[in-house]
Amino acid sequence: MSRLRASLGERVSTDAETLAAHRRDTWVLSELDDLEGRSGPPPVAVVAAASTEDVSTALGLCRAARIPVVPYGGGSGVCGGIRVPEGAVVVSTRGIAGLVDLDAACLTASFGAGTLGIDAEQRVQQEGLTIGQWPQSIDLSTVGGWVATRAAGQFSTGYGNIEDVVLALEVVLPDGTVLRTRRTPRASTGPDLRQLFMGSEGTLGVVTQVTFSLRPLPEARRGRAYHFAHFQDGIEPLRRLLRDGWRPPVLRLYDAAESGRHFPDACPADRAMLIVLHEGAEGLVELESNAVAEICHACGGADADASAVDHWLRDRNKVPGFRGFLEKGIILDTIEVAATWDRVAALYERVTASLREVPGMLLASSHSSHSYRSGTNLYFTFVARPDDRARMAETYRESWRRVMETTLAVGGGIAHHHGIGRVRRDVLMQELGEAGVGVLRALKRALDPDGLLNPGVLLPDPSDAPRS
Ligand SMILES: Cc1cc2nc3c(=O)[nH]c(=O)nc-3n(C[C@H](O)[C@H](O)[C@H](O)COP(=O)(O)OP(=O)(O)OC[C@H]3O[C@@H](n4cnc5c(N)ncnc54)[C@H](O)[C@@H]3O)c2cc1C
Repeated sequence: MSRLRASLGERVSTDAETLAAHRRDTWVLSELDDLEGRSGPPPVAVVAAASTEDVSTALGLCRAARIPVVPYGGGSGVCGGIRVPEGAVVVSTRGIAGLVDLDAACLTASFGAGTLGIDAEQRVQQEGLTIGQWPQSIDLSTVGGWVATRAAGQFSTGYGNIEDVVLALEVVLPDGTVLRTRRTPRASTGPDLRQLFMGSEGTLGVVTQVTFSLRPLPEARRGRAYHFAHFQDGIEPLRRLLRDGWRPPVLRLYDAAESGRHFPDACPADRAMLIVLHEGAEGLVELESNAVAEICHACGGADADASAVDHWLRDRNKVPGFRGFLEKGIILDTIEVAATWDRVAALYERVTASLREVPGMLLASSHSSHSYRSGTNLYFTFVARPDDRARMAETYRESWRRVMETTLAVGGGIAHHHGIGRVRRDVLMQELGEAGVGVLRALKRALDPDGLLNPGVLLPDPSDAPRS
């Protein structure tokens, strides 16, 4: 600690309030633990890094002293990627914020990794450009956090996910070395090192700078909405329009429960609602919206009030916090998985049916919000009130277990965009297989032989925790 202070001075905080604010992310189980008096330990110090050099210094000193380090961005992660172990130092990136450079001709912009997503987006919009990455947490999350969790934005069907918009990265490795990938539109120079850190959840390095490949703001925008008898009926038009090459940035199919909740005025009762947002050049928007309408009608869809899309745009990031529900004995979460088109209907039916068997389950619903040529994601929501509030954590684990096991049984992928953290760590072996987890372990040992960087996250093997 004295060495950290000697090198980083006031950027090292040990006041109780700062320590308490960096104990955990937004994982509902951590919130429940807080409510029930089981809060985990605070870090021993928080380093408010202001530069890449600060991160490098902190990592080098902590490694020498064998102190675990937990990277912290916006703290909006929902999988327990931040739950500080005993004796750990938190390195916060929030002070490494702001625009580093912007080139409107090459459509590139670099930001410090601690820049909030909304600040980065608003800055490039001043130049008539967009990153096009709009996670629902854009006001809370950092661009470095997006990389670390392999995040997805609400406009991903048109503009891609984080892996499609990052041109280059700067990362401080666990020994303090700085790695910079080159700014080139594509490379054939061995495995793509950027991908190594996308989804590494703070276990292989600390991202300190992110260079985005931008696009111009769209000239025109048009919303359309359709309703279908059943959620399953809306899957085929999604598949067909993606197959035909149409790419509306927003394509969201809600089941009847969610349609009734989000669009009570635009969607007839007990119908599934599809909202579509078309963006681009005027002529393309016209062409695309007509083509998508034709596909939806051919698949049994009926026009719904398109003002639903404006409502969604306005309210899309308003989410109630968990605390109010937990205080009433209600446990809830969202779980996002993915599947190829041939398995989506079965995944939807089997997961919602399995969740409904959990004692105390009040609601099990789903929507699809990120579609691809070969398949889509399903974003399940469950809300349960067990008879005995002492069973909330157990109900939570049982619900997660059912979604993970059913997804694997149907042949789907266990995580679309929230990451692994602690909540999915023990199912990763089934997703990646021993060979896949073996590669991750080998990388971890090579880069972080003492297992000091964010121990307990991502990798299923507890022996990857610090050995000291
Ligand atoms: C209301 C709400 C809505 C959400 N909507 C979406 C959504 O639409 N799409 C989506 O993908 N996610 C969503 N999330 C989840 C979350 O916002 C994302 O995972 C986000 O990318 C996390 O960014 P963060 O900066 O808050 O990271 P944090 O929560 O601070 O950290 C997440 C993980 O990454 C590590 N980490 C953070 N910064 C760095 C860094 N610079 N270098 C290395 N490791 C780092 C941490 O150690 C941790 O393991 C949502 C969360 C909430 C609460």
